[in-house]
Amino acid sequence: MANCIFCNNKKISKEHLWGAWWQDYYPASEKDLLTRDGHTITARNSNNDIISEKGLFSNVGDPLAKTTKVVCQNCNNTWMSAIEEDMKKTFHKLFINEEDIISSDDILRLKKWMYLKFCLIDRAYSKQNSLVSSSLSNSKEIKEQINLIRKENWKGFLNGINLPNEFRFFIARATGELKIGSFNYIPLIMLEKDNLLNIKLIDTCMFFNGHFLGILTSNDIVIKFLNNNEKFKGLLPLVNDTIKFITNKKVSARELEDSILCELEKNIIGRKLRRNFSKSI
Ligand SMILES: [Zn+2]
Repeated sequence: MANCIFCNNKKISKEHLWGAWWQDYYPASEKDLLTRDGHTITARNSNNDIISEKGLFSNVGDPLAKTTKVVCQNCNNTWMSAIEEDMKKTFHKLFINEEDIISSDDILRLKKWMYLKFCLIDRAYSKQNSLVSSSLSNSKEIKEQINLIRKENWKGFLNGINLPNEFRFFIARATGELKIGSFNYIPLIMLEKDNLLNIKLIDTCMFFNGHFLGILTSNDIVIKFLNNNEKFKGLLPLVNDTIKFITNKKVSARELEDSILCELEKNIIGRKLRRNFSKSI
């Protein structure tokens, strides 16, 4: 069993992916609790075919009760729970009370929360390595290098400190059909032909949690698309010190997800991007 991704503690424990407070806002229905459902992830096998495999999250009916075993109890109960507590306050303020000013504190809280969830999801999938074709002569070194980059990023985020520079964050208020405990994670790898060890990990993770829509991405295609998109006027990049959050501009989770996936599929030939964990209320 692997160590805690943040502090390297050998004793990792089963922890919830989402903070328990989300369930106060979006309680599970009886049907959810009775339905046990797993999930699949996409990977490449040794023949370079894209295949589906069982994912690492525990099978539970309520998507908000998903658990994962990638961190230690100490991290979970200290700085990680502080990030959840902060997010809860900001969520309530901006998405329930619909206050119209996003303060610099809110921005930092939102970014930290999204990045934390991204790290947990990234580790639980652990499939970036499988995206490297084993037909490449140095596929082993490439995989090692990928592991190294991810580990460095996780270590840097211990105690919620370092957010890697390459990520951009966006948020919106959701309208229409709400998704709960849902996310879509698209890891990609950029390799340079002349130097295959010059690797850049490019990730996009979209969060759909009730009235909250969040996107974290280091993918220039996605960043450009979202910065120039007329359709999603309610989508805000978290960049300035304080931002005005206009209440009447909301975004459909489904439309946003479809548009981003469509944009990525246009640019990545021959790969059907995955979707995971959808539940609507
Ligand atoms: Zn730890």
